[in-house]
Amino acid sequence: MSSFKTLDNAELRGKRVLVRVDLNVPVENGVVSDATRIDRILPTIRDIAEQGGKVILLAHFGRPKGREAKDSLKPIAAVLAAHLGRPVAFADDCVGAAVSDAVAAMAPGDVLCLENTRFHAGEEKNDPAFVAALASLGDVYVNDAFSAAHRAHASTEGLAHVLPAYAGRTMQAELEALDKALGKPARPVMAIVGGAKVSTKLELLGNLVSKVDVLVIGGGMANTFLAARGLDVGKSLCERDLVATAREIEAKAMAAGCTILLPVDALAAKEFKANPGHRVAPVSDIKADEMILDAGPVSVEAVITCLQTTETLVWNGPFGAFELEPFDTATVAVAKAAAALTKAGKLVSVAGGGDTVSAMNHAGVGDDLTYISTAGGAFLEWMEGKPLPGVEALTE
Ligand code: AMP
Repeated sequence: MSSFKTLDNAELRGKRVLVRVDLNVPVENGVVSDATRIDRILPTIRDIAEQGGKVILLAHFGRPKGREAKDSLKPIAAVLAAHLGRPVAFADDCVGAAVSDAVAAMAPGDVLCLENTRFHAGEEKNDPAFVAALASLGDVYVNDAFSAAHRAHASTEGLAHVLPAYAGRTMQAELEALDKALGKPARPVMAIVGGAKVSTKLELLGNLVSKVDVLVIGGGMANTFLAARGLDVGKSLCERDLVATAREIEAKAMAAGCTILLPVDALAAKEFKANPGHRVAPVSDIKADEMILDAGPVSVEAVITCLQTTETLVWNGPFGAFELEPFDTATVAVAKAAAALTKAGKLVSVAGGGDTVSAMNHAGVGDDLTYISTAGGAFLEWMEGKPLPGVEALTE
């Protein structure tokens, strides 16, 4: 990992600090249903405020086309203030005279949240004029939004080129954890890739086979690999058009000395719903009217046994349809085993991307792995080995 500057290297007293954060939290019926992302940025805000910096928050929310009231950050800023335990002022825009006045009125330690950056087309276009308008509001730029770092937008990338740029505490923790997991990992390294479809994770699988020692494939995507090995997976989720691709991935893994672990048994059911009645079956004995909805006990045991001698685990995607009982069984069992090994100091474990955070929370290990990334797309692109523009810009 190239080096980047952190808040330890910054002189922030009296400075106007533009801080890109992730406030893109889930909202249901007007209420923030999961404040994890808000809690993650508190250390950075507190750190800057305690150093006497003026904290000016930049963030996007949703995918608005222009200014849309439903995508205002105002209610989110109020929730942030409650979690932060200090006032958070709000400006109705993120550029312009009124915002400049609000910034000019700030005292050291104050926190001001600006309106959704995506209300301006210049944000996603990384328009230099928009970058300059944002930059005029600050002396220093801090990026604490790893989850948006796969986008080269004005507030995630452009600003880093025109202001002194630093990684915030969450960005720093994320980059350090990711480097431990795939950058310079202790070996052997196991990757678990589960979830629904091979098609969405082709690049991920292709990159991992040359980086890790063991690749455990679970979830719906394992069915495509089982079909590629000539097994009949009944009416399981299976991408038959990708069977040849699955074979190529297996061949690439073999050439790279990476062991692929596929399920050998499964929880099979006739209906995709909770508690439909199921049986445990070897993957070679799935009936035409059955679906594989989770890995079975022998497969789980094999993964856990392999974990005992693993030094580093990186995990994306559940083993089964974990939202429906009992098809959360394999995910929960492996997550608990990983958490226990991590707690015992025997394993570095990093999980993230999409549904993985909720799967880990569901397993009750939300605080027990080395690091759980709340980033979706950015975590996957990192696992795919792609450079993230927002991170690259910090390391120049
Ligand atoms: P992803 O977003 O690709 O990580 O996929 C997560 C989704 O995959 C979850 O909603 C799971 O319910 C689903 N999933 C995992 N295993 C299976 C399976 N065997 N059959 C159908 N869906 C599955």
